[in-house]
Amino acid sequence: MSKTETHHFQAEIQQLLDIVIHSLYTDKEIFVRELISNGADACEKLRFQQSSGSVIYQSEITPAITVVTDEPAGTITITDTGLGMTHGELVENLGTIAHSGTKAFLKQLTGDKKPDVGLIGQFGVGFYSAFMVAKKVTVLSRSFVPEESGWQWTSEGMGGYELAPAADLPRGTRITLELKEEAKEFAQANTIERIIQRYSSFVPFPIELNAKRLNTVQAIWARNKNEIKVEEYNEFYTFVSHDHESPLFRLHFSADAPLAIQALLFVPPRNFETLGMGRIDSEVNLYCRKVLIQAKAKGLFPEWLRFLKGVVDSEDLPLNISRETMQDTSLMQKLNKVLTSRFLKFLDEQSEKEAEAYLKFYGEFHRYLKEGVVTDFTHKEALGKLLRFESSSLDQGKLTSLADYVKRMPSEQTEIYCLLAANRAAAEASPYFEVFRERKFEVLFLYDAWDEFVMEHLHTFEGKSLKLAEKTELDLSSAKKDGALSDTDAAALAQWLKTTLADKVGAVRASKRLVDSPAVVVDADKFMTASMRRMMKAMKQNSEPDLPVKYDLEINPAHPLVTRLEAIRQQDAALAASVAEQILDNARVAAGLLEDPRAMLTRLNQLLERVLAKPS
Ligand code: ADP
Repeated sequence: MSKTETHHFQAEIQQLLDIVIHSLYTDKEIFVRELISNGADACEKLRFQQSSGSVIYQSEITPAITVVTDEPAGTITITDTGLGMTHGELVENLGTIAHSGTKAFLKQLTGDKKPDVGLIGQFGVGFYSAFMVAKKVTVLSRSFVPEESGWQWTSEGMGGYELAPAADLPRGTRITLELKEEAKEFAQANTIERIIQRYSSFVPFPIELNAKRLNTVQAIWARNKNEIKVEEYNEFYTFVSHDHESPLFRLHFSADAPLAIQALLFVPPRNFETLGMGRIDSEVNLYCRKVLIQAKAKGLFPEWLRFLKGVVDSEDLPLNISRETMQDTSLMQKLNKVLTSRFLKFLDEQSEKEAEAYLKFYGEFHRYLKEGVVTDFTHKEALGKLLRFESSSLDQGKLTSLADYVKRMPSEQTEIYCLLAANRAAAEASPYFEVFRERKFEVLFLYDAWDEFVMEHLHTFEGKSLKLAEKTELDLSSAKKDGALSDTDAAALAQWLKTTLADKVGAVRASKRLVDSPAVVVDADKFMTASMRRMMKAMKQNSEPDLPVKYDLEINPAHPLVTRLEAIRQQDAALAASVAEQILDNARVAAGLLEDPRAMLTRLNQLLERVLAKPS
C-alpha cells in the first residue's frame, strides 16, 4: 500500500501560484537567488542550533550549498546541508503562507481582477518562484532532529502536492526542478553560473556548481572593521570596480537606526568622466543580508555621487522579486538620505584628518560636489562645507574652506565675497577686485566657469550671504582723492556719457569702488554677471541672435583719463566722443565681454595717430 499523502494547497497559495505561473516576470532568473537564499538561511539556522547545543543529525556534514545542472534531462537541483524540514514543517512551510502581508495582499484579489505584478513583487514569493520555470518540483528533506526521518514533497504547481516518506536521506534539503520547455536555458551550467555570480557571490556558505566552487570573495562589509587588512579592502575594491589602482577614500560603516545598514563605499583614484569615458553610472550594489537585490542600484545615492563604488547591505529591504519595484519606494529614499548624509560627514572629517588626500579628491571630484549644490537642496549646507577656493588672503595654489574664510572675517565685514576670473593674475588685476584690496577684505577667487552659479545657489554660508564681487555695494573707505572730480562734475560727465554712448549703455554713474581703473561695466540685472552671460550664450542650442544686453557703466572720478575727459569734452567734442567709446570698450574687455574687437581697433589706431601727430 502506498504511503503517499495528497494535500491541497491553502487557497492563498493557489492564488499566489496562479500569479507566479501566469504573470510574466521580467526576471525569471531570480528563482535561483530565492532558492539559494533559502538554502543559506537553512545553513544559518543549522549553525544556530549547533551553537545552542542541540543534538544534530550527521553533525559532521558542514553547512554548504551545491547546485547541479543536467542539460539533457532539463533539470536543475539545488541542495543544502542546512537544518532540513520535518513532515509537519513541509506542510506548514511549503503549503501555507505565513506572511500576513502577502496574505492580506492576496485577499484583495477577488474574481478576475488582474494582479499588480509590481505589488506582489514587494512581498517576494520565495520558494514558489520555482514554479515560474518548473513544471514539476521535487523536494527531498531530512530534518536535523535525529529521531525524525526523510520526506519527499512533489508538486506540479496547480492543485496541490504529494508527500511520501523517503528513506536514507542525508541531512538538509534537495530541490529538483523539472524545467518547462521555455525555461530550458536554466539547465545550462554557464547560465546558472552567471546568475549565481550575480546575486549570490557573497552568500556566507560555500556554493558549488557542478563541483566547481563559485563564491570565493568574502562579504567583507559585514565583518568587523578592525579585523580587515588594507589589502583585503583594496582587493574588494578591485572586485567591485574592476579598477586595479587603490581607491582614494574608503568608508566602511554600519548603522542600526533609522535603518539597519552596512556599507562599504570607495572613491576611485581618478574621475573617469574627465577621461573621455562619458557619463559614469553609480556602481554601488544593493544587498539584503549578502544577497544581491540590485546591481548598480539606481536611486541609492543622488546622481551627483555617481562616482562612488561599493556595496550597501540593508536587512530592512524586502527581498523583491522584481528589481523595478525597488526604485521609488520610500525605503529607498530613506536609505539615500542616510547614506548621503553619512558620506558627506565622512568627507568633512577627511578634509581635516587627511587634508592632502582630501585636496586630491577635491581636485578630481569638485565638479560633482558643485553639481550637488546646484541640484540638491537637502544636502546644500553639508556640501557648502566641502568647497575649497583660492583666496586673496592666501598664497597662490593654497585653498581655503568657507568656514575658514568666515573665521578670518573682520567684525565689520558681513558678507562673503567671490570673484570669478580666468586665473590668479586676472583676478588680482580685475577692476572688480579694487575696492576689496583697498578695504582689505578677503575675496575668494573662483576659476571654474560654473562657480558663480554654484555660489548663487549656495546663497549663504553660516548665516553670511555669498556675494559676487561684481554685485557688491561696497564703497571705498578713503576720502576723496586729490584732483578727483567733484560730485557735480562727475554727475555732469556721467550725463554727457549717457547722451554720447546712447544705446550702447544702460545707466552711467560715478563709481565708489574703483581705484586704478577708469571705468567698469556692471550688469543691470541683479542676478546676472558678465561670465554668467557668457556661459549662457555658450550653452545656447539654437542660432537665434541674442537679445542685446545693456550694461551700466561706472566711471572712476579720480582717474586721470576721466578727469581729462571732463576737461576736454567742451573743447573737442569729436575726440571726447571717441575716448568715451574707447573707455566703454576697455571696460568691456576687462569684463571679458567684447566679442568683436575690430571696430575698437580702428578707433584705437585713430586715437594713437592723434597722440603721435606732430604738434601743430
Ligand atoms: P521565506 O523564505 O520568505 O520565508 P519561502 O516561501 O521561500 O519564504 O519559504 C517558506 C519557508 O520554507 C521558509 O521560511 C523556511 O522555513 C522553509 N524553507 C524553504 N526552503 C528551505 C530549505 N532549503 N531548508 C529549510 N527550510 C526551507
